[in-house]
Amino acid sequence: MSTLDKLGEECGVFGVMSHPEAARIVYLGLYALQHRGQASAGIVTSEGKKLYIEKGMGYVADLFNEARLERLPGCAGLGHVRYPSAGKNTIQNAQPVMVDCWRGPLSLAQNGNLTNARELRQELERDGAIFHSTGDSEVIMHLMSRSRRNTVREAFIEALLQIRGAYSLVVLTPEYLLAARDPHGFRPLCLGRVNDAYVVASETCALDLINAEYIRDVEPGEVLCIKNNKDCAGDALELQMPLPKVKSAFCVFEHIYFGRPDSLVFGRTVNTSRHEMGKLLALEHPVDADVVVPIPDSGVPASIGFSRESGIPLEFGLTRNHYVGRTFIEPKQSIRNFGVKVKLNPVRDILRGKRIVLVDDSIVRGTTSRKIVEIVRAAGAREIHMRITSPPVIAPCYYGIDIPTRHELIGSTKSVEEIREHIGADTLGYLSLESTLRAVDDRDRYCSACFTDNYPTEVITLEKQRNLFIDDGTDTDDR
Ligand code: AMP
Repeated sequence: MSTLDKLGEECGVFGVMSHPEAARIVYLGLYALQHRGQASAGIVTSEGKKLYIEKGMGYVADLFNEARLERLPGCAGLGHVRYPSAGKNTIQNAQPVMVDCWRGPLSLAQNGNLTNARELRQELERDGAIFHSTGDSEVIMHLMSRSRRNTVREAFIEALLQIRGAYSLVVLTPEYLLAARDPHGFRPLCLGRVNDAYVVASETCALDLINAEYIRDVEPGEVLCIKNNKDCAGDALELQMPLPKVKSAFCVFEHIYFGRPDSLVFGRTVNTSRHEMGKLLALEHPVDADVVVPIPDSGVPASIGFSRESGIPLEFGLTRNHYVGRTFIEPKQSIRNFGVKVKLNPVRDILRGKRIVLVDDSIVRGTTSRKIVEIVRAAGAREIHMRITSPPVIAPCYYGIDIPTRHELIGSTKSVEEIREHIGADTLGYLSLESTLRAVDDRDRYCSACFTDNYPTEVITLEKQRNLFIDDGTDTDDR
């Protein structure tokens, strides 16, 4: 049976067309998007006839140096950073994917998760297709390669018409940079311009770094086609809306946790949403306390909102080590809460003897909060009031956020009081769904399936998959 070990990924994508230093621009774009994925990174460039690729496991800064960027010539490029998710973190799954087919070389970077990748892949395999990776991006490449349409743009659109779910895609061919966002617009993708070059990126923080002007978001269901004019001057941007119009379903988790505060995501600054969440949280779950302490980094803007609204002073009572790599050598004799301690250390003077409001973005499995509460308690806090800027996560995400199987989600099996007890806080308050959506200026455009179990599209759960396919025993995922 086909093996799609992990149906979906949180990622960052970036593309540039008509820039004399394409590889360096992509490198910088990925640098700014590093928070969207640290497992692997890759860059592909085009010099008009051929595509060149460099990719590997790890951080952008560690993977690319002068010599490696020199091996990426041309005026067009795309790049990808991948999150260390529950799936197989192997070089085979690192993106961009690149293939040679009868159309010539094709390369693709994807953010999101296709909900029908498994069926498509099975059909393709039955038809003789061979896959190298366990991700679903290769499925799109096969669909493009098999299309009988005359042009690569038409082949891309034909492939898009067959795939379902969440995707923000960037494709590079020797002639074109193509970009597309799924009709629901689950994942962000924006369009910018620097001098004669167009750029597309998952978040606007990538545009800021390269001095690109933000033009607008790529619309849900929109396909951009930017032609390579070889001499890196002028451009040709064509827009098409070939995909059926459906109700928007922007991912609310992008604003709660995933996006960078300085980015415009879905046309709204993430920082503004998080401030608002903190403010509404203070109104919904007021508490008598001495200090508001953010759990860095995502808890910081919300803590400011909470502090301003409640009048309780804000202090950075937990310090984050920003230089934690993907792996670290653990001590032979176990140190309590070692994993969290590597990242966060208490500032004891701030915490000792105080009534603390801890502000965090979400509780998924409940393990992180439990460890943090223990660390803060051990630092001498008198009371700990945990405040969360989202509702309990009760359902897995099928659209690319790494929210695990239902039984691993503490919110799906325990009540709020049981969760409070589990994490060891004195009180626990979650932001209501209504306020969460208000904070992102919802206007009925957001997906909040992880909090409601109501999915905006049909999804195939593991139970359904088990009935549909003969399981080869490799899947452990509920998706
Ligand atoms: P836990 O409850 O132990 O699963 O950890 C939850 C914490 O992990 C949250 O406070 C976030 O900071 C972070 N987090 C939330 N969602 C995700 C996600 N999809 N991927 C990685 N980290 C996440």
